[in-house]
Amino acid sequence: MGNIFKNQISVTIDLEDYRRKKNTCKRCYEETTSIILDWLREKKIRATFFVVGQLAEESPYLIKEISLNHDIAFHSFDHTPLTDENIHSFVTKTFESKKFIEDLVGKKIIGFRAPCFSLTPQTQWVTNILSELEFEYSSSTIPTKMPKFGFPGIPQTPFKWESGIVEFPMVLSNVLGREIPSIGGAYLRFLPVWLMLKTLKKKGFRWTYLHPQDIYLKNNFNVVKGLNFFQSVLYHYNRKKTLNSIETILKCHKVVNLECYLKNINKSSLPEFK
Ligand SMILES: [Zn+2]
Repeated sequence: MGNIFKNQISVTIDLEDYRRKKNTCKRCYEETTSIILDWLREKKIRATFFVVGQLAEESPYLIKEISLNHDIAFHSFDHTPLTDENIHSFVTKTFESKKFIEDLVGKKIIGFRAPCFSLTPQTQWVTNILSELEFEYSSSTIPTKMPKFGFPGIPQTPFKWESGIVEFPMVLSNVLGREIPSIGGAYLRFLPVWLMLKTLKKKGFRWTYLHPQDIYLKNNFNVVKGLNFFQSVLYHYNRKKTLNSIETILKCHKVVNLECYLKNINKSSLPEFK
């Protein structure tokens, strides 16, 4: 089957430091990011990196290097879920950190992803603020009921918030009658690839995401701060598999850059959610 019949997919990376508070291995995200960059170069993919502002301050040369071949978007200043944010301090931190990264890479930042996909009915205020801070799109929602941060009732394909910000909601699979997040992050390590692909919706734009820690192989098992023993086992599980899983998923799609896709869609044809 030719490429024109395949669904389009974008590759995104959430660049964060999951062991910031633990100090076991300083800045191991740098090493892992260079593995991801080599992999993207080999596959000739232009990806979008959602960067945590604190990391940009800590490793400016890394962000500059990434920006030579990829798009830089924003993943909050310090990875605080929106549900724990105070609106005023969110605005200040986001404005300053966005500006810092824009000056660093010499390009305007238009994309935002909420930490832990924490854009929920309770934090919908952020969609107006994103527009005021001159973002153009967000990829911050899980469009189903979740134990923590879901947003049931929003469209499951790209749509507009009332403020005009375009939203790319998480891609879902339908497994045994339940909708679950799919083709990204930890889900890549747990769900069999054939099951994810088979249970995706038939048509529509998709995106996948990974974190540096999804492929980091060097650290031995340890109980992660804030997680119990069982959660820590899950956290470390199956990391060798991640890039192979993404490759299989990409082969079944036409790979496009997220910001190019955004430029080419007719925004007035997108559904609006109020
Ligand atoms: Zn994150």
